[in-house]
Amino acid sequence: MCRSGFGEQEGPFELLVESLESIEVQQKVSSEKETIEVQTKESTLSEKKGPSGQAEAYYVPVEEQSEEDKTWMRVALDMAEEALQAAEVPVGCVFVRNGEAIAKARNRTNEWRNATLHAELVSLDHIIQTQQIPTPLSDVTLYVTVEPCVMCASALRQVGIGKVYYGCGNERFGGCGSVLDVNSTDMIPTQKGFPAYGGYYREEAILALRRFYITSNTNAPKPRNKGKRVLKTEFLPIKPAGGTPPPAL
Ligand SMILES: [Zn+2]
Repeated sequence: MCRSGFGEQEGPFELLVESLESIEVQQKVSSEKETIEVQTKESTLSEKKGPSGQAEAYYVPVEEQSEEDKTWMRVALDMAEEALQAAEVPVGCVFVRNGEAIAKARNRTNEWRNATLHAELVSLDHIIQTQQIPTPLSDVTLYVTVEPCVMCASALRQVGIGKVYYGCGNERFGGCGSVLDVNSTDMIPTQKGFPAYGGYYREEAILALRRFYITSNTNAPKPRNKGKRVLKTEFLPIKPAGGTPPPAL
């Protein structure tokens, strides 16, 4: 969970890619569980449950995705590509308000040796400090290539983001349904929640991550020899049910 996400330049997303390879297996295992609980130091947080009884993100069927949303996600993917070219974990995002991009960013964890510099937080810093748009950002929409992690989901909730669209789910660290439902849980009564919709250019988002991890990340704490890795281009299908629709918030 987030404990790994904050401490390494490489580990969390690499684990995510490995996780994406085995989602189908995990789904079969976890579907047999009535309750999955994640232990933390202070408390026990119940995961979000879908009809199958397992935690899950919500994926919008491709045929229901609007052209406008897909267009903005292409911008986010361009940022992810920029990250890839800069030897960063390829995650990109764009924040949109009144039909205009107000900030866009990519991961900069390796560049600054700061594992908190996820694309979403880099953008939020820009929005809040430079453009000084007052919070809550209820009329702002975030498009990000990978489901926000628990850290970023919490930050997005704290600034009152309006809604979030993402590419692929984050089965290891996702804070918008995949691991924890930070975006919508009523356990955080002090900040309004936000809906999160996944599945926008999901395969492209996964492919970018795979492309990164077949190369050696020399910035990783313990660089691994990946010379024998090959780029996989097959994608496991998302579940037919598509997860649980986000609640009206
Ligand atoms: Zn994050």
